[in-house]
Amino acid sequence: MLEVRDLHVTRGDTKILKGIDLTVKEGEVHAIMGPNGSGKSTLSKVIAGHPDYTISSGSIKYEINFKMKDLLELEPDERAREGVFLAFQYPIEIPGVSNFEFLRAAFNSISSHQGGSEMDVLEFQDYLNSKLSKLKVDSGFMSREVNVDFSGGEKKRNEILQMAVLNPRLSLLDEIDSGLDIDALREVASGINLLKDPSNALILITHYERILEYVVPNFIHILYDGKIIKSGTADLAREIEDRGYEHLIS
Ligand code: ADP
Ligand code: MG
Repeated sequence: MLEVRDLHVTRGDTKILKGIDLTVKEGEVHAIMGPNGSGKSTLSKVIAGHPDYTISSGSIKYEINFKMKDLLELEPDERAREGVFLAFQYPIEIPGVSNFEFLRAAFNSISSHQGGSEMDVLEFQDYLNSKLSKLKVDSGFMSREVNVDFSGGEKKRNEILQMAVLNPRLSLLDEIDSGLDIDALREVASGINLLKDPSNALILITHYERILEYVVPNFIHILYDGKIIKSGTADLAREIEDRGYEHLIS
């Protein structure tokens, strides 16, 4: 579904990513771990199409209608309509826009692009209610402005709700676990597990091993100084927990 090849990315004069290779197939969960500043958020933002980064070389291909297409040729909104979803490390607030209208507009834009139909307010309310109860999210969220005055944990749960509503094929979750206490972490993780299925894929970016006890990845990659220095299976997370990153960095 996703093929990143020898990806080099700069921002201004700073080289941030220095040759990333990553292949993600349908049904897989990949975790990307690494110390702060290693380039994890940059990788997720570049896949989603953040305009502030320059791709100096390499490629990102993404499967659209059974063909691998050059993702970098698509605008960020086109990527979103093709099923690429990014949950931000720091979700932004959108004053003046209700969560309900935000979700409905995003859903309709994606659905009509993919050949589905748009939902009116009543239809969308039903659809949304099914998602809210599945994820056990309070319906009071819907009338509030997007993320405005949400606590850290509520923002993260709102990102998962967006993911549930938009039903992406490739989800990039950037530190969805940061700032969550153990109960909130369990809820967010169980939401992610409910949304996982054999036709979608997940890239879970995290600093800590903790969430990987709940959302078990097929592969773990350690990113350090813009490069993947080690890849492995779920055991690698335990190694990081026991020994930290230092022993991998030499
Ligand atoms: P991580 O998510 O792994 O903590 P980031 O992708 O946020 O890492 O950052 C990687 C590196 O890129 C860091 O050294 C950071 O300082 C630098 N960087 C990120 N964003 C910017 C920016 N807007 N301007 C300059 N440097 C940046
Ligand atoms: Mg980050």
